[in-house]
Amino acid sequence: MEREVRVRFAPSPTGPLHIGGVRTALYNYLLARKLGGKMLLRIEDTDQNRFVPGAEQYIMDSLRWCGIEIDEGIEQGGPHAPYRQSERKPMYRQYADQLIQAGHAYYAFDTPEDLDAMRARLTAAKVPNPQYNSITRAQMRNSLTLPAEEVTQLLESGTPYVIRLKVPRKEEIRFNDLIRGWVVVHSSSIDDKVLMKSDGMPTYHLANIVDDHLMEITHVIRGEEWLPSAPLHVLLYRYLGWESTMPQFAHLPLLLKPDGTGKLSKRDGDKLGFPVFPLEFHGKDAETGEPTVSSGYRESGYLPEAFINFLAFLGWNPGTQQELFT
Ligand code: GLU
Repeated sequence: MEREVRVRFAPSPTGPLHIGGVRTALYNYLLARKLGGKMLLRIEDTDQNRFVPGAEQYIMDSLRWCGIEIDEGIEQGGPHAPYRQSERKPMYRQYADQLIQAGHAYYAFDTPEDLDAMRARLTAAKVPNPQYNSITRAQMRNSLTLPAEEVTQLLESGTPYVIRLKVPRKEEIRFNDLIRGWVVVHSSSIDDKVLMKSDGMPTYHLANIVDDHLMEITHVIRGEEWLPSAPLHVLLYRYLGWESTMPQFAHLPLLLKPDGTGKLSKRDGDKLGFPVFPLEFHGKDAETGEPTVSSGYRESGYLPEAFINFLAFLGWNPGTQQELFT
């Protein structure tokens, strides 16, 4: 049976929604509308240290102003109230436990000092990219190296730990990206990434995969900065037994600085004389803590239709003379 197309926009509420984020949301929205599917909003707020109060509302207001309609996850108090990962914690834990039981994940008890020492050792040995992986894990304090009784005792005594994915040493991981085509990555280049942090919160990787699966997402359309994480996600789908319903990936090229050296920032926008935010943003100066106001397209007098048309056709055109789309 054909599955209903379901896409999601999954911002982290770590600040105002940037023009690049709106573009990602727009591409999701357009695909959902074209294929008669649904689009949902999911707030990925598992990183409590980077949480910015007000960011969630800003994201919702911006999408509304742009005319990007969300089908699920936006109605305050309604049947499709916002999906917030911080409110779904026990579910992620259950899947982390499942991975441990199946031998695909393990407890790691290393202290920050242990990890620093490991990195220092690897750096001194001129290892180019120091990682906690299939080779280094053998020298660390985890449930793969410690005797079972000691692991039980550490867990019972409340010693802080994280749960890491056991990435295989030698395997080719491949997936077909809708934009990039076949992407093939060797597992030796992937870290044994943390899935559950010591504060009991899942990391982005685990929460993102569990939610995409439970929310029956068919297409993951997101910025290219997530391309390096995708092989790890493919492994998670496999180890959780969800490979047959794994979504299709589409990693969108980023909006870059004019010289192409990195992601377009607020400062680049200021220099070029255009805002990078859809709506005015009231923030704080990082150094002085003084209140700041950054201009937005709405306040600068641009119509949402103009803004959306500009965004939709950055980097390509449909090959016709038509320049304005509703
Ligand atoms: N929370 C991630 C972000 O802020 C989402 C990445 C994804 O779509 O998987 O960009």
